[in-house]
Amino acid sequence: MKRTLVVTALLAASLVACQANPVSGRNQLVLVSEEQAQASSVQAYAQTLSEARKQGKLSTDAALNGRVKRITDRLIVQAGNMYAPSRQWKWSVAVIDEPTLNAWCMPGGKMAIYTGIVEKLKLTDDEIAQIMGHEIAHALLGHGRERMSRAMAMQGGMTLGSILAGRDLSVLAPVADVALTLPNNRENESEADRYGIELAARAGYNPRAAISLWEKMGTASGNNAPTFLSTHPAPGNRIQALNAQVPRMMPLYEKAR
Ligand SMILES: [Zn+2]
Repeated sequence: MKRTLVVTALLAASLVACQANPVSGRNQLVLVSEEQAQASSVQAYAQTLSEARKQGKLSTDAALNGRVKRITDRLIVQAGNMYAPSRQWKWSVAVIDEPTLNAWCMPGGKMAIYTGIVEKLKLTDDEIAQIMGHEIAHALLGHGRERMSRAMAMQGGMTLGSILAGRDLSVLAPVADVALTLPNNRENESEADRYGIELAARAGYNPRAAISLWEKMGTASGNNAPTFLSTHPAPGNRIQALNAQVPRMMPLYEKAR
């Protein structure tokens, strides 16, 4: 009986909580407001950085930090044109000294890239721009909120009730943790690819780098795809889809250069 009630509550909530995303126009399940998502990312980001610092894994390489900052600064300007509210975001980027092939951008613009992906793939600036453009696109497209909403739906009515009733962020903190470890689905990945290559082109970064990036990623991961890639579209399909975007992106890139 209780279970039925919870399911009914979840269904009702998801009916009222379906919103068209302002950037993509796609309907999303949204049980978390943008403010809530950003507040929980601020917590998760501070925690991630302080743990990295304690372990001596927060990169102090000034050249690399400067390079990443220069690239993301240009992307952030374009993010503001794609989604005006992001101009108010408190953007931040960290370089984490770990050998993993990873990068991310949380809701509200808290970003990180790992030295592993830069060094192992010998990334060019254009390729770093493609990675960070893709990650920023996830944030602009509200994918983090979508994941938090899914995590919340998984955790059931207990969390949901308090979310709907109040704005108890202590409840949201574990949800943010779950959301960070939940993979994006393929639809979201393709969407982030599409908008990410455009952000990078408008910021003056070569769209062809999206192809070389995923080729390198495919070679590096071989049959043992890192977790970062496991839910991402198969490299072949992804490269094909990105290739199809290149002709439309080249004029944006030429104009921005
Ligand atoms: Zn992604």
